[in-house]
Formats: sequence, structure tokens, C-alpha cells
Amino acid sequence: MPALEATELYRFYHSGDDEVMALRGVALTLDAGEFAALRGPSGSGKSTLLACLAGLDEPDGGVVSVLGERVTRRSEPERARLRARHFGMLMQSGNLFEHLTVRANIRLQMEISGRGRPDEIGGLLGGLGLDGLADALPSHLSGGEAARAGLAVALAAKPAILLCDEPTAEVDEATEQLVIDRLVENCRSGAAVLIVTHSPALAARADRIVDIRDGGIVHG
Ligand code: ADP
Ligand code: ADP
Repeated sequence: MPALEATELYRFYHSGDDEVMALRGVALTLDAGEFAALRGPSGSGKSTLLACLAGLDEPDGGVVSVLGERVTRRSEPERARLRARHFGMLMQSGNLFEHLTVRANIRLQMEISGRGRPDEIGGLLGGLGLDGLADALPSHLSGGEAARAGLAVALAAKPAILLCDEPTAEVDEATEQLVIDRLVENCRSGAAVLIVTHSPALAARADRIVDIRDGGIVHG
């Protein structure tokens, strides 16, 4: 059974009289332990695809399943349960609560998912080059630090499926390698990992490259 399976995903947006087809029949399967990089120009549908895969957005057509359980056409509480149980996510909008410190954000994720231990927080942050920032509020972090803190939240519960939107934007090369190492590590311990990225360094470490153009997968 694949970790994540999407068949014939369609997503339309209406803006004024125009209709945008953000996804046009996307099929994608991710196995446990697989590390895939999702590439595509701005507006090609990457964020929409991630949101549909994670059950944050409901596609207009098609089915998403996680570990054999259907995510699409479920009530919001059921989708929330599936997200908490199976997914770690770093979305472009970020995933930190602004009024909570980095540590409190991570603890909250551990509580919601019922997995991970508070004594792992230090190691998690250190591994992402965030030593000393556990008690910082998100508003005091740089863009790159906030993305890595968001990644720490996504990794905290050791999810079966990890979906990240540009986790290495705004960081230097050394820090990027650190982030890539953590992603690969998670994958080797059995997670299915899908990363939206423009980074050649990250794509070079992926098992698989998926290219999307105008809402359709053209490769991978
Ligand atoms: P990127 O190209 O960096 O992925 P986008 O500009 O495509 O970012 O999208 C950023 C956010 O704005 C997304 O959450 C997306 O859903 C939303 N968005 C994109 N295009 C529109 C639009 N035409 N109308 C309303 N929201 C949009
Ligand atoms: P990417 O992440 O690759 O930049 P998106 O998934 O954000 O692409 O967007 C795909 C297409 O859907 C774009 O044409 C974008 O303008 C449009 N779009 C995305 N979100 C919205 C929205 N909320 N309302 C209207 N159009 C949107």
C-alpha cells in the first residue's frame, strides 16, 4: 500500500469571469521511504497540490488516500484527524502560532498528534541550526529561521508523510545542507517525503523529481 496516493485530481478557481484550472488530472503515488522533489514555475499548481494532498483543500475531482484511508470528501474534523495522525506539513504561509514560542509550538504539535517527547525538542532544533531559539517568538525569527522552526514542528511527531513548501528558501548553503540532511534522515527512517523546491542541491538528493506545469505533471 502506498503511503500517499492521488488519482485524477482537479482543482478549479474562479476569479471574476475567468476560471483557472490549478490542477488538471494530477496522479501521484508516494511510497514509504521515498524522497520526492516537486518542481514547477510560479502558478503551476504546487501549493494547491500540497494543500489537496494534506486535506487542507478539497479538490473538485479526484481522490487522495493516505495509508489506504481516503482523505477527500470527508468532514473537516475527519480530515483534521487524518492530518494530525499522518502528516507533517510546512506550508508557504508558515505553520507557527505567533503568540507561542518555538518550543510551545512544537509541544502543541506533539500534543495534537500524541507523538514525540518534549525532551526531544532540543535535539530537533539543534539539528536544524536553531540552537538557542527555543524560547523565541516567531515574530523575532528571520524568514529562514521561521521556515526551519516550522519544519521542526512538521518533524516533531515523526509523521508518515512529510509535505514541505520550500523549506530551504532564505538560508545559506551550509544551513541548506543541514535541512536536507534532516529530510533525508526522516525519509530513511520510513517517511514519505514530498518537497516543493527550487534548490538544485535539494533536488540532487531526491530519489525522484516530479515536474508540474500548468496544473499537470509532465515528469515523474
Ligand atoms: P508561489 O508562486 O510562490 O507558490 P502564489 O503567488 O502562487 O505563490 O500563491 C501564494 C498564495 O496566494 C497561495 O496560498 C495561493 O492559494 C494564493 N493565490 C494565488 N493566486 C491567487 C489568486 N489568483 N487569487 C487568490 N489567491 C491566490
Ligand atoms: P504554485 O504554488 O505553483 O505557485 P498555486 O498552486 O499557488 O501555484 O496556483 C496555481 C494556480 O491557481 C495559479 O494560476 C494561481 O493563480 C491559482 N490560484 C491559486 N490559489 C487561488 C485562489 N485561492 N483563488 C484563485 N486562484 C488561485
